[in-house]
Amino acid sequence: MAKRSQGINTLCAHAGELEDKQFKGAVSPLYMSTSYAFEDVEVKRYPRYFNTPNQQALAQKIAALEHGEAALIFGSGMAAVSSSLMAFLHKGDHVVLQKTLYGGTSNLVTEEFKKFGIDFTFARDLSAEAFEKEIRKNTKGIYIETPSNPLLSITDIKAIAGLAKKHGLVSMIDNTFASPVNQNPIDMGIDVVIHSATKYMGGHSDILAGAVVSSEEKIDTIFQLAKNFGGSLSDYTVWLLERSIKTMGLRVKSQNENAGRMAEFLEQHELVEKVYYPGLKSHPDHELAKSQMKGFGGMLSFELKGLDSAIFMKYLKLIKPSMSLAGVESTILSPAKTSHALLSPEERKEQGIKDGLLRFSVGIEEPEDLIADIEQALEETRKDMVDVRI
Ligand code: PLP
Repeated sequence: MAKRSQGINTLCAHAGELEDKQFKGAVSPLYMSTSYAFEDVEVKRYPRYFNTPNQQALAQKIAALEHGEAALIFGSGMAAVSSSLMAFLHKGDHVVLQKTLYGGTSNLVTEEFKKFGIDFTFARDLSAEAFEKEIRKNTKGIYIETPSNPLLSITDIKAIAGLAKKHGLVSMIDNTFASPVNQNPIDMGIDVVIHSATKYMGGHSDILAGAVVSSEEKIDTIFQLAKNFGGSLSDYTVWLLERSIKTMGLRVKSQNENAGRMAEFLEQHELVEKVYYPGLKSHPDHELAKSQMKGFGGMLSFELKGLDSAIFMKYLKLIKPSMSLAGVESTILSPAKTSHALLSPEERKEQGIKDGLLRFSVGIEEPEDLIADIEQALEETRKDMVDVRI
């Protein structure tokens, strides 16, 4: 009989556990040492070398969750993004990237790559053809992010992975928005999977961290650069992150369900102009999302009909206007004022990001309470706007 692989919640709870041999405690012990023996040891351990007991144990858990051979844990998502890109790109190389990327990643590429002599092109759209058109003799990598921020567009992971293989390129994906609960790109042929662990892995809006999963060989390539760049995560936070991931399957499945409910509720509301959620049949990439995602995620965006979104946010009582995403508590923000503020109005327009667009990170609250909060805020905003017109 073929060996059955363990399910997501079992992996979240148990993969990469450290045994407490001394006291037989139920959870992984925390080793805070920055100084380890160097004589008669197999491994010379040091936190910046990503090889303390807790770092290695958490890396095993995250690698198991993403179906990869190995992983590295970083001090932030951007440390994971920059270390992965810089590990595979050298002076004179070229990389093709998705245009709709997390703002920090776009900034890294446009602000830093020239200094290192690395050339780049943003593909015109999300199709594999658009990426292939930009491949040159010196292209070494392809970088995507799906679902994208903030419009939840979907890139065809298998098509991009196949394209990279055809041209001998390293394929990289930022899998933060989906989380390993909803999407496992390595199963679709992607080489390197990157996470801002600050988001669904941490899940409580209190940890800044990043992770990369790949083959042993590629992880070693990233490690050789990362140990010099020095972006590892402190063991205390590593331990907290391991503890947080234990409930990731439960949290994310509940967030998927709540986001689905919110998307349907908003889509039928007379004061809502448009909803962007890959789980909706009306989403242009719904079928593609269905084919590559196990759940549609906890993120959605929407536009109001004739109402001021800044006023609407002020009336919310339960849903917090707040940066970042993926916590157990629902949060909402204006991409034009936060994540995409560095883009010019023309660039935002080109990407379809309207000034009034709201990005909603749906938490684990009861959906009826979230709906009631939105209902009352919409009603108050409508009244306010009628008053202003009078
Ligand atoms: N990737 C995505 C999709 C993100 O949303 C973020 C942060 O918002 C990052 C990467 C960067 O992660 P961090 O803030 O942990 O450095």
